Amino acid sequence: MIPLETKPSLYLPELGLHLDSLTSQKFGFISHAHADHVGSHETILCSPVTAVILRARYRFGKKRFRTLEFQTPLELKGYRIELLPAGHITGSAMLHITRLSDGATLLYTGDCKTRDSLTAEAIVIKPANQLIIESTFANPIYTFPAHSETSQQLVHFVQQALTDGVTPILIAYALGKAQEAHAILSKNNIYPVLHHATAKMALTCIKAGVNLGDYGTLEELAPDRHCLIIPPGYLKHPDIASIKHKRTAMLTGWALDPDVQYKRRGIDAFIPLSDHADYPGLLEIIERVNPRDILTVHGSTKSFATDLRRRGYNAWSIEGEDQIELF
Ligand SMILES: [Zn+2]
Repeated sequence: MIPLETKPSLYLPELGLHLDSLTSQKFGFISHAHADHVGSHETILCSPVTAVILRARYRFGKKRFRTLEFQTPLELKGYRIELLPAGHITGSAMLHITRLSDGATLLYTGDCKTRDSLTAEAIVIKPANQLIIESTFANPIYTFPAHSETSQQLVHFVQQALTDGVTPILIAYALGKAQEAHAILSKNNIYPVLHHATAKMALTCIKAGVNLGDYGTLEELAPDRHCLIIPPGYLKHPDIASIKHKRTAMLTGWALDPDVQYKRRGIDAFIPLSDHADYPGLLEIIERVNPRDILTVHGSTKSFATDLRRRGYNAWSIEGEDQIELF
């Protein structure tokens, strides 16, 4: 069993390595560049693409990066360390470690996704004895449609709005979801206009090698006859509020939760485009990793661990006290 500390955050003591810690550490693995996984560590272990995004997004220019290409093992302190594509957003990585003395293995997923994507590298799964898995959509109500179906829904929403003479506005997180929407539109010959926060991330991802296609920015182009992509929270910004005839769609996996739709008034449509694994996706990962022990982190950790125990797995939530007996 590979020792693992969970309080105050995930830590591998034998490697001296923190996993997605939000507080600054000596040595930290950052699985991807979403803010809820990023700490200002002295030395950062991440994929090369995540390093590019971190530098652009968080002014990490002077940080020491120890980047590792996907599936290119590195030996460190008696371990073999390997980063595997997580399929979540561009550059997102899972951490797979093997202790050389006894062959014990551990996989940490960070945020991950099994479905197709135009912008994230396809997930690569390797077996491990211990699995630390995210639980964001760990409930059977979250079974997302195929990527092709969601893409079709998104394109139809945009084309219908343009035909009706209103400005389609897609609300998507500036990193990840916005690029996926952008790539889907480009593939369908629709030229998007991006809010500046989204444009900055688009430029960074293009520099990192992601094929997104052309775009305009809100500063340069009037929104008429164009599809806008803006981050959540910008609908009330004067630039957007001043557009008289508009139709809005939020891109989120929570679209499948009827309560969430009911609460978010003022949004015309919800499209279930997610960058996380849905419930069947999480079960597929677990089956393919074939772990002896599972720790659930982020989201519905307790109910997912209970669910997994019923399915015969030795699974525990990071929030409970009981995981101490596991690790
Ligand atoms: Zn994320």
